[in-house]
Amino acid sequence: MTNIIDKIKGTIYGQAIGDALGLGTEGMTEEEISQKYPNGITHYSDIFQDRHRRRWKIGDWTDDTDMMLCIANAVIKDKGVNLTTIAQNFKDWAMGEPMGIGQTTYKVLNLADYVEKPFDVSKLIWEMSYRKGAANGALMRTSIVGTFPKAVEECAVNICKLTHYDPRCVGSCVIVSELIHSLIYKDFGLSYHDIFDIAMKYDKRIIGFIDLSLSPDIRTLELQDQKSMGYTLKCLSAALWAYWHARSFEDGLLAIVRAGGDADTNAAVACAILGAKFGYDAIPEEYKEGLIYRKELDQVITGVANIINAQANL
Ligand SMILES: [Mg+2]
Repeated sequence: MTNIIDKIKGTIYGQAIGDALGLGTEGMTEEEISQKYPNGITHYSDIFQDRHRRRWKIGDWTDDTDMMLCIANAVIKDKGVNLTTIAQNFKDWAMGEPMGIGQTTYKVLNLADYVEKPFDVSKLIWEMSYRKGAANGALMRTSIVGTFPKAVEECAVNICKLTHYDPRCVGSCVIVSELIHSLIYKDFGLSYHDIFDIAMKYDKRIIGFIDLSLSPDIRTLELQDQKSMGYTLKCLSAALWAYWHARSFEDGLLAIVRAGGDADTNAAVACAILGAKFGYDAIPEEYKEGLIYRKELDQVITGVANIINAQANL
């Protein structure tokens, strides 16, 4: 059990740390990164304070982790997964000051009857994109689903579809959630073939991006490409790249952040996986201590641990 909790802590902290440091290069190309960070970016305090980035305090995370907490807090409150509570938490967050909210999420959460009919609303917005919209807004928050003790696939599908209806979004959420679940509860990850099989259940277009992640050179992934940087499969390939190739948590974190593009989201997903793989204790202290709202993470970890304990005692 101690090992399971250590990996759950690693997942949740990993998500927040990747998000918080990734903000530093969010939206940047390689050229901009070398201009703004001549000495590289390593710490939260290095983050270049331009108009976009100075809205967050040093050591704060962005929408990715905010929305992950919307899911976590709903599940803790209900002691299980109730989609209406999660939808309500999403809506309440969107009605506040949702810094960094993505376009698809914004459109879906702002329709009037969202909480009553989230699937209808999210499907409608997807249809209105001519079924082309497949942004990374559901993948960025799915890591918490991997910490649930059971029904991971079903939860990943449904929680994804609350805002993102495209099968590429659903498939990428299932892959990352199942991978994290396996790392936490079985102490080993998924193989290429395991991931391939999940992808085939949802959308064949996922396969090319799994294959891309096998390349040891992160530049092959073209994460900084401005046209495709918010695409769910781009983020999936970044996350899987870290899973296959990162030698440590810090190694993966810095590689993904320094590759630019949608770096906060790419690093949030990648580092949640690395946190599950290497565990909480393997994350350097400075990244954990530097998170200014880490108490919120600790509360969620306690809440999730209580749910697992209660189920174990049934
Ligand atoms: Mg973000």
